[in-house]
Amino acid sequence: MADRPRFGPAGMPLGFKALKRTVDEMPGYLRAEGLDSFEYQMVRWGPVPQIRQEMAERLGKNADENDIWLTAHGSYFVNLTAVKKETLEASKRRLLGCVAGACWMGAHVVVFHPGSYAGRSPKEVFRVCERALNEVVESMRSLGLGKVRLAPEMMGKASQFGSLEEVLALCERVELTEPNVDWAHLHARDKGRFKTVDDVAEVMDVIERRLGTEALRNMHCHYSHTEFTAKGERRHHNVDRVEFGPEFKFLAKLIVERGLKPVIACETPNLDVDALKLRDMVRREMKIRARGQA
Ligand SMILES: [Zn+2]
Ligand SMILES: [Zn+2]
Repeated sequence: MADRPRFGPAGMPLGFKALKRTVDEMPGYLRAEGLDSFEYQMVRWGPVPQIRQEMAERLGKNADENDIWLTAHGSYFVNLTAVKKETLEASKRRLLGCVAGACWMGAHVVVFHPGSYAGRSPKEVFRVCERALNEVVESMRSLGLGKVRLAPEMMGKASQFGSLEEVLALCERVELTEPNVDWAHLHARDKGRFKTVDDVAEVMDVIERRLGTEALRNMHCHYSHTEFTAKGERRHHNVDRVEFGPEFKFLAKLIVERGLKPVIACETPNLDVDALKLRDMVRREMKIRARGQA
């Protein structure tokens, strides 16, 4: 559990890429910038980890030493709602590959996109996903990978399985899971859901009611500004593109008011630069509140 609100990039910042260093040097780079989390991208992985174990372990050690909270984004080639049995089996193997890599690194969670409806009823798709996820958890246990948590992501398109309700229900029913609360996706899926601070509070209240106060306090989040159409999410944008929501100030205010300690992986194109802006907004809220209480 994170000890404070933490912020970091979802993937390699451009400034780091330009240095042509290996990923194990990322934690030191982020710490120097003033950030304290990092979401490693496994998004093109197959069933075998695409990082050498030694490199993964070095990344984990450096994350520890630099106080960087490590998480991972699992493969895009995972579909736990697949109709075809072979696809479903391959998806489970790929997700397990990501979990194995995450274990080497000591990453806390593996985020993944649960799947799509493909013309079926949401109820039926839920059952398929729940069963597949339970099988993955069983394998994790038997392979000794039970330290990692699986974090189904709340998805931004109406065609994608993974509404707020669906993800919370999965997390209620399947062990070793916690929700990945993607604020941009929730905003896009419901075509501009977060217009006021109360709209954000409402989602927090639902999470707390369904999964408990600790789950809310320690939620793993994705954040970005987002452009959407009638079908949902279209594209991520930087936080200075104020014509796109959701506004972070609502979230920042509630994080401070409720004493939450979320880990916020910034998914805007500006990654680390914007993660610092989000961090600063929360710090500003903390100062305002401290002044109000003095
Ligand atoms: Zn994602
Ligand atoms: Zn996301």
